[in-house]
Amino acid sequence: MQRAIQETDNDAFSCKISAISKKYLPSPAQKSISSQFENYEDIHMEFCKEIKSRSRRKFGSITKACRQSFPVMNYGTYLRTVSIDLKLSQYLQNHSSKVQVLNLGCGSDLRMLPFLASNPNMQWIDLDYKEIVGFKATIFQMNEKFRAALQLQPPAKDTSETQTFDSIISERYQLLPCNITDTKQLISVLERFSNPNIPTVIISECVLCYLDQDKASQLITNITNFYKEGFWISYDPIGGSDTNDRFGSIMQDNLRESRQLNMPTLMIYNSQEKYKSRFPGKAEIQTMWFYYQNLIDETERQRLKRLQFLDEIEELQVIFSHYVICTSLWGS
Ligand code: SAM
Repeated sequence: MQRAIQETDNDAFSCKISAISKKYLPSPAQKSISSQFENYEDIHMEFCKEIKSRSRRKFGSITKACRQSFPVMNYGTYLRTVSIDLKLSQYLQNHSSKVQVLNLGCGSDLRMLPFLASNPNMQWIDLDYKEIVGFKATIFQMNEKFRAALQLQPPAKDTSETQTFDSIISERYQLLPCNITDTKQLISVLERFSNPNIPTVIISECVLCYLDQDKASQLITNITNFYKEGFWISYDPIGGSDTNDRFGSIMQDNLRESRQLNMPTLMIYNSQEKYKSRFPGKAEIQTMWFYYQNLIDETERQRLKRLQFLDEIEELQVIFSHYVICTSLWGS
C-alpha cells in the first residue's frame, strides 16, 4: 500500500508536466505573484531531464501522460495548482515578516523554487517518505541549476555520478524523510527544523485522502497544536453526498482495481461541510467548479478554451464539483 501511495506522486508530476507542455501553466495569475514564475517551465523541464536519466519507469509515466494529455485532466491540474499558489500568495501578502511553509507529502512538487526566490523571509520544509525524498534530494544535489536556485553547497569533488542523498538541509530549505502519520517522527522533525512561534503555512495537496481517518485527524491535531499560528491549505477529492451521486464509489472501485489504492475518507468527508469540519480555526472551502466559474476571470477562461478543444463541459462540472480547496486559519 505504501508503495502504491508513493506512486501517486508520478501521477501528480506527470499531470503537471502535461499541463505545462500544453501551456495551461504557468498562468498569468501565477506570473502576477512573482516574476520567478517566468522560469516555471524551465525548472520543470530540468527536473524531467533528471528523471529521464535516473528512472526510466518514472519518465515513461510522464511521457505517457503527455501523449494522452486529456483536456479535463489539464484543467484539473491547472485549477489545483493555481488555486493553491494563489491562496499561499494571499496569506504571504499579510505576513511580510518571517514565515514557514510545511509541505506534507510534497512528492516532486517544485513550488518552493519560485516562492523561496521571491520571499527572502521564508523557510520551506518539504516532507515525504524516504524513497520520494531521496530521489528528489539526489536530483537537487547533483544538478547545478537546482543547487544554485536552492543555494546548496556543491557535493565533494570526488562525488560519483551515482551518489545518492537522503535529505537536503540548507538554511532556508529542508527536504526531509518523514512518515507524517508517525506522531513521534513528525514532532521530532518539526521540533528540530521549525519554530512553533512563527506563522506557518501547511500545504496538503492530494495527501489527506490517502490517510486513514484516525491518522489524518491525529495529523491535523498534531500540527495545529504544534504551531501557535498557522494557515492550512488542503486540496482533495470528496466523494459526494447526494443520494444519487456515485462519483466517490466509482472512484474508489477504480483505484482499488487498477492501483490497489484506497482513499479511506473519501466517503466520510464526502461534502464540503464535512471536509471543512476536519480543521480547527476559521475554515473556508470551495469546489474547483466554483473556483473555475467565479475566481478565474473571463479572459483567462477564454485563454484556456483556446489551448485544447473541450466539449464536455458537463463532465467538467461533475468532476470539479468533487474536488475542493479548503483553507483554515488558526491562532492569529
Ligand atoms: N503533494 C504532491 C503534489 O500534489 O504534487 C504529491 C501528491 S501525491 C498524490 C501524494 C504524496 O503524499 C506522495 O508523494 C506520497 O508519498 C505522500 N504521502 C502519502 N502518505 C504519506 C505519509 N504517511 N508520509 C509521508 N508522505 C506521504
